[in-house]
Amino acid sequence: MKRVFLLGYPITYSLSPAMHNAAFQAMGLDWRYALLSVTAGDLAGAVARLRWADCAGANVTTPHKEAIIAFLDDLGDMARKTGAVNTVLKRDGKLIGENTDVAGFMQALQDAGISPHDARIVLFGAGGAARAVSFGLAEAGVSGIVILNRSPVRARQLAAMLQGHFPRLSLAINTSDALKDADIIVNATPVGMWPNVAESPMPPGSVCRRGAIAIDLVYYPGETRFLREAARCGAQTLGGLSMLVYQGALAFALWTGYAPPVQVMFQAARRALGEEGGG
Ligand code: NAP
Repeated sequence: MKRVFLLGYPITYSLSPAMHNAAFQAMGLDWRYALLSVTAGDLAGAVARLRWADCAGANVTTPHKEAIIAFLDDLGDMARKTGAVNTVLKRDGKLIGENTDVAGFMQALQDAGISPHDARIVLFGAGGAARAVSFGLAEAGVSGIVILNRSPVRARQLAAMLQGHFPRLSLAINTSDALKDADIIVNATPVGMWPNVAESPMPPGSVCRRGAIAIDLVYYPGETRFLREAARCGAQTLGGLSMLVYQGALAFALWTGYAPPVQVMFQAARRALGEEGGG
């Protein structure tokens, strides 16, 4: 049996095991996807586990997407560009970091009919997911990105990464005034994720404009407080489930070499979320 792990903390509410195990079963593969709850101090040991012969790869989530790079043997193109890894592959016994969040996010936008070209972006967060999302948006030709992040140092590091790849992109840090004019607002923090469902990344009293688009990378719950409040302002909303499935489908293809059963993965993720009565 081959094993794939999700490294992160906290990950108790992850839908990835349900989604990937359904995909492995649908493809007739004797593979298992399991959670590996790992705090920062345990990361080296967890990566050592990935080197065992039974392991085919891994996903990486909060808070390790940047820190894991130091423990890997090589990086794929998008992981190198973004400085964030969400997928680990094995090639000739070596651990290779990749990033499928960028393409997964952009596919979710396309599915929802959202074109970011020329859009003014406000992005909550400056961690691994924010790196992927902002890179994809910048590549798609947005007019500018305002990064709102709790720690200014990390916001500056993200801005420097973007500036290096997209020198003409307009960038600003922690100017929450930009929210009222934003075309697209993205939450790439865990704020609002279960069990902290009463939280929202929007500063108290701030609103988005009618016709804006609010995107939450959080997928549990399916509708967060951020998205409910944005809908009340007249914004279009998109939750994190479709990105989850698309980044997972791309990872599945990299690990197994097979075309991913995307509809099976959507169905399993929705069932695990309770949207199809599965609980
Ligand atoms: P990460 O690398 O740990 O970064 C977390 C970011 O959120 C940092 O910018 C951090 O700010 C900020 N943050 C954390 N807790 C906060 C709080 N209580 N208040 C304000 N800001 C806070 O994590 P990540 O990998 O980027 O993931 C971020 C979120 O996106 C997670 O909820 C993850 O599940 C979700 N995600 C979803 C998908 C999907 O497919 N739907 C894909 C990727 C990620 P500091 O810099 O100040 O610490």
